[in-house]
Amino acid sequence: MAGSGKLFFTLEELKDWSHAGAGLNPPARLAVIGDPIAHSRSPQMHNPALEACGIAAQYVRVHVPAGRVKEALDLFVQQGFIGVNCTIPHKFEALATVSHVDPLAQRLGAVNTVWIRDGVTYGYNSDGPGFLRSVEEAFGARVKNLRVLIFGAGGGAGRAVAVQCALEKCPAIMLVNRTRSKLDGLKAELEEVSPETKVTILGEEPEALASAFEEADLIVNSTPLGMKSEDAPPFDLGYLDPRHLVYDMVYTPPGRKTPLVAHASQIGAKTCDGLALLLHQGAISFEHWFQCPAPLEAMRAGLVAA
Ligand code: NAP
Repeated sequence: MAGSGKLFFTLEELKDWSHAGAGLNPPARLAVIGDPIAHSRSPQMHNPALEACGIAAQYVRVHVPAGRVKEALDLFVQQGFIGVNCTIPHKFEALATVSHVDPLAQRLGAVNTVWIRDGVTYGYNSDGPGFLRSVEEAFGARVKNLRVLIFGAGGGAGRAVAVQCALEKCPAIMLVNRTRSKLDGLKAELEEVSPETKVTILGEEPEALASAFEEADLIVNSTPLGMKSEDAPPFDLGYLDPRHLVYDMVYTPPGRKTPLVAHASQIGAKTCDGLALLLHQGAISFEHWFQCPAPLEAMRAGLVAA
């Protein structure tokens, strides 16, 4: 059965793969790398997907420290892997390491999906398109029609969301980041991608924030606030109203909502959490690797059961 056996390995084990990977049946041909990585739920969706498609391969987690992505990718190539997902903190290093970068990944500034074909590494970004698909599924809305307010816009995920929204030519993008200086270059880049989009940088001033919430349709949290149950919300929840579409990129253990999602649901706003992004970015990675539609419901069931 796909997904059986040990699913967590270290880079040292990858070097000694003839021993470390020997007991795997079917063999490991896909992996997610990160630091930390033990918590990753990606195997729980990709292994059911592989099984549903009758592909005799399994998906494992490999712990790779920062600075060693090239070494890891070279080993994956040598060991005959098909694909790799890269998560925190490797998306930028992967961009700089793969042999070919897809234009969208270049534009979003990060690679989270590597496809290995004939010994060559090709880098893609499935987070941006995964965001679009999850917005459509959760809210029945197209990003191109929404005015978007992004918290944590200076981080890797927030930046990718902002650029993806600009590529969709949405009418307005409002950016908030704790370290405001990180947004200077981003504003200019968004304006270059979509001159017709109104791009605004906001600080913490209550009046400016209140009018941004009044203008916005879609509110995105791309800070890590909410990962821990004791975290404060990313903004004063009193700004939310029931017409807002609330997208929290953070995903939490089953049965626990982030304070943001809990409050938004309580006041009757539509919500989407990080599990939806995990699912849809995973489906798009699968489509790159196997060039066929991903078995989305098998993946969703695997995630929910995890
Ligand atoms: P990142 O590059 O480290 O960026 C973190 C962002 O959050 C930065 O803008 C940072 O602001 C801000 N931030 C951090 N701590 C904060 C605090 N205490 N108060 C206010 N702002 C704070 O991380 P990332 O890769 O973008 O990921 C961000 C979140 O999205 C994580 O929770 C991650 O798990 C989630 N995510 C989920 C998925 C998914 O599949 N569901 C995919 C990607 C990311 P500064 O610039 O001031 O440091």
